Amino acid sequence: MRSPAFKDYFDPVLTNDDPSSYWWPYSSSDVEKITDEQLLRFMDEKAFTLYHPVGSARMGPSPATSVVDLGCRVHGVKGLRIMDASIFPEQVSGHPTAPVAAMAAKLSAMIIAENAAGARVGGNL
Ligand SMILES: Cc1cc2nc3c(=O)[nH]c(=O)nc-3n(C[C@H](O)[C@H](O)[C@H](O)COP(=O)(O)OP(=O)(O)OC[C@H]3O[C@@H](n4cnc5c(N)ncnc54)[C@H](O)[C@@H]3O)c2cc1C
Repeated sequence: MRSPAFKDYFDPVLTNDDPSSYWWPYSSSDVEKITDEQLLRFMDEKAFTLYHPVGSARMGPSPATSVVDLGCRVHGVKGLRIMDASIFPEQVSGHPTAPVAAMAAKLSAMIIAENAAGARVGGNL
């Protein structure tokens, strides 16, 4: 927000080193002087959840870095797929419900196509 590119779009924030002020720590005169203790207190007082937990069983090609493969199959487990917000590789920039529905529709189509291609129904989920 302090970069030249944003200069035309944001009003300047007045410098304020009081941790209880609205814009602190952004308003700080020198961020390097903010202590860990101040930041921890700030987090205790101001942080809250947005109820959008994702990625606890993230998708990826490698079992070393992910839980499910690109077809939502659990790496190393036969016959088990996961399809919910837990498989997001990372947090999305918007709300998660629409992407969950879109991914479910996509996986349904993939499973139908696999079965139509001759795989035994339910054989490899
Ligand atoms: C307060 C709040 C506000 C939110 N607001 C928004 C918003 O405005 N917009 C938005 O896009 N997202 C919002 N979200 C996030 C959104 O609700 C979730 O990201 C989304 O629902 C995740 O979908 P999911 O399928 O992964 O899980 P869920 O929707 O939680 O579905 C899991 C389902 O599994 C069922 N279940 C659990 N255990 C079992 C079991 N053992 N056996 C059988 N069934 C089981 C549960 O009953 C539930 O129906 C909000 C979340 C919260 C908590």
